Amino acid sequence: MKRSLKTLIEKTTPPQVREHLWRTYRRWITRGDRYECPLCGARLKTLWPRGLSHPVLKKYDIIGGGYREQASCPVCGSTERERLVYLFIRHRTDILQRPVHLLHVAPEPQLGRLLQAAAQVDYLSADLYVENVMVKMDITDIPYPDDHFDAIICNHVLEHVPDDRRALRELYRVLKPGGWAILQVPYSERIPTSIEDPTITTPEDRARHFGQEDHVRIYAKADYLARMADAGFRVETLRWWEEGPAFGNPDNRFGLMPRETLFVGRKQASRATARQYRRKSHA
Ligand SMILES: [Zn+2]
Repeated sequence: MKRSLKTLIEKTTPPQVREHLWRTYRRWITRGDRYECPLCGARLKTLWPRGLSHPVLKKYDIIGGGYREQASCPVCGSTERERLVYLFIRHRTDILQRPVHLLHVAPEPQLGRLLQAAAQVDYLSADLYVENVMVKMDITDIPYPDDHFDAIICNHVLEHVPDDRRALRELYRVLKPGGWAILQVPYSERIPTSIEDPTITTPEDRARHFGQEDHVRIYAKADYLARMADAGFRVETLRWWEEGPAFGNPDNRFGLMPRETLFVGRKQASRATARQYRRKSHA
C-alpha cells in the first residue's frame, strides 16, 4: 500500500475502523486456497512467520517453540496452537453447547475472544503479569474453590513456573470431576528427563539453557506427561495428523504445527457425579 494512503488512513480514521480496514487489506493480499483459519474463516495462500530461533531449541528439537515459517494467520493473528486448541474444542468437546465455567490462563487473544463471545461460556481470563485479563492469578495458589471449573486452558505457562508440580496440583484441584484441561508446553522428544536447574536464574543464562529468558526448564515429553499424571490427571494425547478432515488432514489445511501433540488432562468423575450425569441425560 502506498505510504501516503497509509498515512491518510491513520490520520483520518478511528482505531476500530482502522483495524477493520487493515484486516480487510490483509485478507485481500493473502487470499488463496492453501490454508483456512478456523478462528476467523479466512482462506489463505500463505501463513506468516513467527517465533525466534535459538540454538538450544534446535539442539533438543523443541516442538511448540522457535521460529516457524508458516505460523500465524495474516488476518486475525491466530497461531498454530490456537487453531489446534479451537479445533479440539469445536470437534471433541461440548463446551460451546452447554453452560460452563471456563478458566483461560495466559489467554491467547484470538481464542479468548471467540470463547468469551460464546453464549453459554462463563469465561474467566487470568494471568500473573499481563494487564488485560479479568483476574490476576498465581497458578501455584489459585483463589477458587475445589471442583469449580468445567474446563481449563493453560498453554505455555508451566515452562515459566519454578514449582510446576504445585501448579499442576492446583489446576487439578479447581477442575470439576468430569472436566478437562488443555495444558500445552514446548517439549522435546529427544531427551528422557526434563532439563532444569534452580541455580540458573539470570535472563541470559535461562535463554542459553532453556531457549527463552523467562523459561525455567526444557520439558522432556514423557516426563511432562508423568508430571500431569502425578498431579492426578488422566492424561490423553491427541496427534492431530492421525485424525481426519476435522483437523485439516491430509494436507494440513488449518496450518497446524507438525508433530505438536495436544495434551489433555481429565479429572475422573466420581461414581456419584457419573450417576448424576447419567440421570440427567436420561431425563
Ligand atoms: Zn484467522
